[in-house]
Amino acid sequence: MKVYCPYCKREVDYKIEKRDVKEFRKIEVDTFENAAICKECNNDLYISEIENENNERIYQIYRSKANIIKPEDIINLRKKYNISQRELTSILGFGKMTINRYERGGMPTKSQSDYVRVLIDNDVEFIKKTKEAFDKNSINKKTYEKIVAKEKPDKVSKRDIQELFRKHIQETLNRKPDIYNGYKQLDLEKVENIISYIATKVKNLTITSLNKYLWYMDMLSFNQRGIGITGLTYQHEKFGPTIINQAYNEISLLEDKFKRENYETENGTITKIVSNKNYDLSKLNENEIKIIDIIIKLLKDKNVTDISEISHKEDGWKKTKRYEKISFEYATKLNILK
Ligand SMILES: [Zn+2]
Repeated sequence: MKVYCPYCKREVDYKIEKRDVKEFRKIEVDTFENAAICKECNNDLYISEIENENNERIYQIYRSKANIIKPEDIINLRKKYNISQRELTSILGFGKMTINRYERGGMPTKSQSDYVRVLIDNDVEFIKKTKEAFDKNSINKKTYEKIVAKEKPDKVSKRDIQELFRKHIQETLNRKPDIYNGYKQLDLEKVENIISYIATKVKNLTITSLNKYLWYMDMLSFNQRGIGITGLTYQHEKFGPTIINQAYNEISLLEDKFKRENYETENGTITKIVSNKNYDLSKLNENEIKIIDIIIKLLKDKNVTDISEISHKEDGWKKTKRYEKISFEYATKLNILK
């Protein structure tokens, strides 16, 4: 069988080579992949059927080893309550197409998967989420009633679930201190209090903007003191730096210090973070608070588009590729200070 080789620039014969795949997303999978190789120049060729087979094989092992929910799990959850993908997405507070993607075989992050599993295994939690979604006008009365009609008593409290949730976020984001977290161990409690503080000072704080606030605070802290504030790790995403693994979604669902509010706009649903105004900055020192205030002052009158654009001028974004972790070494030169 012949296939086009971009190196030889013509149709060539290829051979298949089996290669070991030891790890996927930090989980040992110990399997193999097939690589198509040009018989003329020995370069790897991309053949989508082969790649799909490889992915399917690796995904399957990863799913069972990391205990990731399966597409059927989500479909069954929807069937149980007779709700659409759209309704479920609104209840979970995920991105628009997330559920659709997962049902078609897309791989959730471990933390997102764990979160959904809690809701699958626990009717009461799912109903609580539904009530919250209804209170925020994310779902309509019809959706709300068909789910709540199935309610059954249970003993798991909201507090237990939030704690479980916190544990998952810690596990996802916790890394040894290095150049990618500003040489700081993650302190989730500090993160929650800082978010509450920012949300008190900033009107219309979207999740996209929040990511930039936190990144700038950590970068400025590293710039001035050689150490970050929160211990969060960030990555390059389309709209600027964000917390890795999209963990900002899960963080935003913690509710002790702030809450999510959804607003319908012409461009779809926008989620804002609203402070519960009970932040506690006693774990922060004077310098850290000063740095946080500087960033709030610099950004608070700017809208989400402007803030994204500002972050796009930073080396930390310019010199990294999509989804690449952003090193704190880029903090030495911060454009925002000019
Ligand atoms: Zn070739």
